[in-house]
Amino acid sequence: MDPIQRFTFTWNREELERQKINEAASEINSLADSAAHLGGQIRRLLAVDQAQSTRIAKLEAVVWALIETLAASGAVPTAELNERISGALAPFAPPEPPVPEGPGGYRDAPRAAPGAPVPTPPRKPPPVVDVACVACGRQVPSSETLITADGALCEACHTERVLAGPG
Ligand SMILES: [Zn+2]
Repeated sequence: MDPIQRFTFTWNREELERQKINEAASEINSLADSAAHLGGQIRRLLAVDQAQSTRIAKLEAVVWALIETLAASGAVPTAELNERISGALAPFAPPEPPVPEGPGGYRDAPRAAPGAPVPTPPRKPPPVVDVACVACGRQVPSSETLITADGALCEACHTERVLAGPG
C-alpha cells in the first residue's frame, strides 16, 4: 500500500472516531440536561405533594372536630352518624382482587376461606435420564445413582465402596 493512501485511511478512521466521540459527548450532555430538568420537575412535584398533604391533614382535623361536635350535641344519633360516614366513604374502598376464571378458577374449585394458604400445583418429578456410573461405566437411570464427589455412582458400586470402607 502506498504511504499516502495509508495515511489517508488512518486520518479518516481517526476523524470517524472523533466524530463518534463528539456524538456520544453531545448525547451525554443532552441526557444530563434532561436529568437536571427532571430533577427540577420532581422537586416541584414533591413540593406540591407536601402542600396537598398539609391541606388534607387540616381538612381531616376540621372534619373530625365537626363530627365530634355533632355527636356531642346529640342532634344525630351516633349509629346514624357512623352509617352516614361509612356510606360516604364506600365509593373510596379499595376494589376486590379479581377472581381468576376458567379451569382452576372459581367455577371449578371451591372458594378458599380468606387468609387460607394458596394451594400450590403438584410439582413434576424430575425427568429420568440415563447416566454413566463413574466406577463401572454402566448406563443407569439417574434416579438409581448416588452423587459423590467423584460423580454419579450406581447403587452396586456405591455399596461396594461403602463396604470397602474409607481410603
Ligand atoms: Zn457402577
